[in-house]
Amino acid sequence: MKAANPQTGARIEPTRLGYNSRFQFRCHPDVSCFTQCCRGIKIILTPFDVIRLKKRLELPSDQFLAIYTEPHLLEKTGLPMVTLKAMDDEQSSCPFVRDEGCLVYSDRPTACRYYPLGVASLQHKEGADDDGFFFFIHEPHCKGVEENREWTVAEWRQDQQVDLRDQVNAEWTDLVVRKRSFPPSIQLTAKARQMFFMLSYNIDHFRQFVFESSFLKRMPVDEAVRHQLRSDDVALLKFGVNWLQDILFKQNDPLKQESLTTPR
Ligand code: SF4
Ligand code: SF4
Repeated sequence: MKAANPQTGARIEPTRLGYNSRFQFRCHPDVSCFTQCCRGIKIILTPFDVIRLKKRLELPSDQFLAIYTEPHLLEKTGLPMVTLKAMDDEQSSCPFVRDEGCLVYSDRPTACRYYPLGVASLQHKEGADDDGFFFFIHEPHCKGVEENREWTVAEWRQDQQVDLRDQVNAEWTDLVVRKRSFPPSIQLTAKARQMFFMLSYNIDHFRQFVFESSFLKRMPVDEAVRHQLRSDDVALLKFGVNWLQDILFKQNDPLKQESLTTPR
């Protein structure tokens, strides 16, 4: 059971961890703190997390968002994002936690997989200057750190299958990181923020937009790709992110980028 919980007494180790850094940790159903990390949650969801969870719960993306998430603005970017909505109980529990564990374990969010590690940046690509991208989260209740099992960060990521998730989210995180580099005087318009939110989290609505508006008349897309986009959420997410990247960044000067940005 693993959940990122940066509030509620979490102590962040100042040490920046790289792929070969080592840490000691083991989580299993017999630890005395079992499921405590799934209370008092504040878990940022990535687009791939939403795709996996809404599929697991057999919900359209707008219903999943309405029932299970809360909207926020991502710090320093003004971009909309969502967190998992805690239940209205005394402990602000995750809606998926039960005494016996996580109901959606094989589809649990990326942050739950990384825990007790945090990711120091939204961008964490293999091959980049990755040292310092990770840090250790010490929460007083977590007894997993007392268990006798050592990992490297790379081993942990592989064990938790976050490599695949980071790969799917990579272009999306690039977009967010690039937005951070906009001068503070340049703001995205409401239209751009809505578009970012729709393709990031409301993927079924984005599919409707692509196929039921004049979008494909204005943007030629190969028939084989169209076919794939009709049913493949991950392919549609990548397509949407590339499209938005092109619109926002194809001219290096963000001031020139038509109606999606505006000087403040
Ligand atoms: S999704 Fe699962 S692992 Fe993550 S906080 Fe909820 S119950 Fe815990
Ligand atoms: S050991 Fe840590 S991660 Fe595992 S259940 Fe306890 S608090 Fe959660």
